[in-house]
Amino acid sequence: MSLHPHWGHPSLLEALAGAWMGGSLPAALLIHGSKGVGKQHLALWLARLLLCESPGVGGPCEKCHSCYLAGKLEHPDLHWYFPLPRPKNATTPDKLAQALEDARREALEDFRANPIQATGGNEPKSLYLAAARSLRRKAQRRPSMGDHQIFIIAEAEALAPQESSSEAANALLKLLEEPPSGTRLILTSAEPGRLLPTIRSRTTQFHLPPLTQKEVTEFLITEAGVEEEEAQRVGGLSRGAIGRALGFLRDGDAPGPLEQTRLEAQGLLSAALARGPDQMFRAAITFKSVGARGLRDLFNFLEECLGELARVASGLPLDAGTPEEVEFLKEAVNRWSLHPAAVPLAMRRVDEARAMAAGNVNPQLVIFGLLHELRKELTSPGHAPIPGR
Ligand SMILES: [Zn+2]
Repeated sequence: MSLHPHWGHPSLLEALAGAWMGGSLPAALLIHGSKGVGKQHLALWLARLLLCESPGVGGPCEKCHSCYLAGKLEHPDLHWYFPLPRPKNATTPDKLAQALEDARREALEDFRANPIQATGGNEPKSLYLAAARSLRRKAQRRPSMGDHQIFIIAEAEALAPQESSSEAANALLKLLEEPPSGTRLILTSAEPGRLLPTIRSRTTQFHLPPLTQKEVTEFLITEAGVEEEEAQRVGGLSRGAIGRALGFLRDGDAPGPLEQTRLEAQGLLSAALARGPDQMFRAAITFKSVGARGLRDLFNFLEECLGELARVASGLPLDAGTPEEVEFLKEAVNRWSLHPAAVPLAMRRVDEARAMAAGNVNPQLVIFGLLHELRKELTSPGHAPIPGR
């Protein structure tokens, strides 16, 4: 199976192709935008454009040998790196480097078999020093087929929380400082603020905006073969990101992976806002005692839940959500006479928990502490005096 065409963003694609044809495309790019919005897919489109034997203003020709190979992710000058879970039993640096290369090859194989994949997954992943070194070594060699070789470094912020050092980021930095001729780097990140400032300053950045809900729904029906009703439902939850919409698709009777995380976040909010405090402890011990970095999606959804809570507390309608979800939020607002002004304070607590999780604190402790803080911020009178009550 080959990659599907890049969906949406026509004027951006045209500008990029024009810059490439005109010789003004910078050697190191950083694409940023929300999770699942298509940053890696755009990076792959760019790689196809740069490797194509007869590119045009419309993009890669999709007919030449290079386009054929790149479309199947089999082009020897296209190198795609992304965060991976830590391999087990890799006791020496050499073994780790080998295990990571094997895991990367396996992930690519999986992607070739199934190129339409959801964003997310709660397993903690990193871009390791060993991978950054292997990338640098490859970048020093000559391209195999043409004049260019492309390195895609996806979710580049995963270089930052390394095992006690930023060596991996520094290894990449050296490459960005002096890219060998013909070497092109494309970084993607949903959280560019977490990249080293020196990495940001050595790349040319641009933002990939969300698609319209209609574009997402059309993609799901045309390219992913989703039934119209389900496409409309997940399109409504997508926030303009195809990868996010895919994460909400039902898998048989089971909810999609993002739906599960969203339900988990709702469960946490419901524990924090329950009548008695004992639910908070019960909610916290359902988490494992390691792997706090895998909680990032959960915190993002918790912030979304808090945003919905603020809307309900302000008497505004919700964009998405089932009647039961709306009912739960209304009930919580009434029970605690909750004022929307308390929500930003609660959001700040989520941010603090996120920082602790990045520091790899025990997830049970992070969650338990967070639920206490949320309860305090959201339910104590006095934080937000309500006139007339
Ligand atoms: Zn071509």
